[in-house]
Amino acid sequence: MMRTPSPKVDKTFFEQMKDSHIGRTLSYCYQCGTCSSSCPVAEEMDIKPHQIVELIKMGLKDPILQSKAIWQCSTCYMCTERCPQGVQLTSVILSLRDIAMREGVPIPGAVKESCKNLYDTGRLLTLSQFQKERRAKLQLPDMPQIDTSLTKELANKTRVADILKVK
Ligand code: SF4
Ligand code: SF4
Repeated sequence: MMRTPSPKVDKTFFEQMKDSHIGRTLSYCYQCGTCSSSCPVAEEMDIKPHQIVELIKMGLKDPILQSKAIWQCSTCYMCTERCPQGVQLTSVILSLRDIAMREGVPIPGAVKESCKNLYDTGRLLTLSQFQKERRAKLQLPDMPQIDTSLTKELANKTRVADILKVK
């Protein structure tokens, strides 16, 4: 029988994550699961919020960085608000996104598409042809144009536009 290779353990990962004011709070987690039961998108996540904390502690960096979960988080801060131990989980997840981008881990297509929309139009979502026709039928005005010059400047200066290839 073929065995699935075990994920590589990075013994320094937890130490690296802990090396900040936010990351230090990971140590206080006692796996009560309140974060996951409060999370509005946990059901869709391949790794649940409380599991993210545990995997960080176990040094399982690759499975976390390659998970969809870190991109599915809607940054609603519910987990952070409700954590009885003050774990700053939302900020930890945002740090994980930074690490994933820095290390060239592929970003989910839907996230890239939203970033491209934001760069091009100033909106994360664009209207489909159907929605445009429906609006016209209801005699709703055209969506106003957004000035994207500052968003573009920011994305260009921080190199986010290059990294995400949205230009
Ligand atoms: S709510 Fe806080 S203490 Fe409970 S599992 Fe989540 S991070 Fe850990
Ligand atoms: S901040 Fe992210 S992980 Fe936390 S509850 Fe909201 S969606 Fe879930």
